[in-house]
Amino acid sequence: MAELGAHLTAAPAGDDRPSIFEAVAQDSLMAAVKPALQHLAKVLAESNPARYGFLWRWLDEIYILLDLLLQQQYLARCSASFSENFYGLKRVAIGDGKQQALASAGLPKQQHWKSLLLLVLVPYLKGKLEKLVSSLREEDEYSIHPPSSSWKRFYRAFLAAYPFVNMAWEGWFLIQQLCYILGKAQHHSPMLRLAGVRLVRLTADDIQALEKKFAAAAPSQAHSIKTQVQSAMKKALDGIAFSLSTGLSVGVFFLQFLDWWYSSENQETIKSLTALPTPPPPVHLDHGVDSALLPKLKTMCPLCRKIRANATVLSTSGYVFCYRCVYNYVKTHQRCPITGYATELQHLVKLYSPES
Ligand SMILES: [Zn+2]
Repeated sequence: MAELGAHLTAAPAGDDRPSIFEAVAQDSLMAAVKPALQHLAKVLAESNPARYGFLWRWLDEIYILLDLLLQQQYLARCSASFSENFYGLKRVAIGDGKQQALASAGLPKQQHWKSLLLLVLVPYLKGKLEKLVSSLREEDEYSIHPPSSSWKRFYRAFLAAYPFVNMAWEGWFLIQQLCYILGKAQHHSPMLRLAGVRLVRLTADDIQALEKKFAAAAPSQAHSIKTQVQSAMKKALDGIAFSLSTGLSVGVFFLQFLDWWYSSENQETIKSLTALPTPPPPVHLDHGVDSALLPKLKTMCPLCRKIRANATVLSTSGYVFCYRCVYNYVKTHQRCPITGYATELQHLVKLYSPES
């Protein structure tokens, strides 16, 4: 299947072009990392809110910092993002022609910074926007007031427009992928186009040069304190990035498993397999029993069968009576006259309707 795909997508651009499967697989690799970390942070925060609560609150910011560090290292060393390197790909500047730079040489400055920004900042901002939209939507659903200020009206318009903007965004990526499959585009993602780069496979020369580069990264003699501090800082950052990337490489399959495990459709299956059977509803909620005790007219008291005076509701069952009737009844029986729920005098709530 992969061979057929690669054959199908072979384009005039040359043999170094990755197939759509490789390109999409590396995209989804990084997309799976964040949700998995989110679940991890959530589990930690729930187990010990005092110690790990900050992880959950600042996850986006912690993630973008680590992501920035990781991608910066990979772009500088291998001319690729972590996941692109994982799939044996590299970025080359558009218009490099046949004379492609080796992966170990890094990208030209402009393409490097554009790549870094688009790799790290765009997913962060998109995530923030999605969170904002869902919180606004929640607020909008629970507010009972009509939109008063112009800000509120702006929010409403924004909420109404958001699905279309999102659809256009996703459509843009889809069309780009389609063009790539048909060999009409150099990029499978608009982000690559904006960064001014395209993806190609690593060549044997690239791999050799990368290996040489890693081997040559031995510590050099430092003289002044400034350069020593600088090299120590660089070493520390390199160390963090290195452990991140090693951890990620090992954890990638574990993360994808976690992501699959926690995906919403899967949750249903897991729940149905592991959940205890739902207990049957209480017998006295049976409507047949209730309706015999209830008067036909809604404004009548079920106890004295007259129009209610000083309407009072039981917070345990929700039924409404005269204050005097239900007070006496609950005082002697300690239960709701209709449902039989255990009820005390503190559960009586007087109703003040606008008409009275
Ligand atoms: Zn009554």
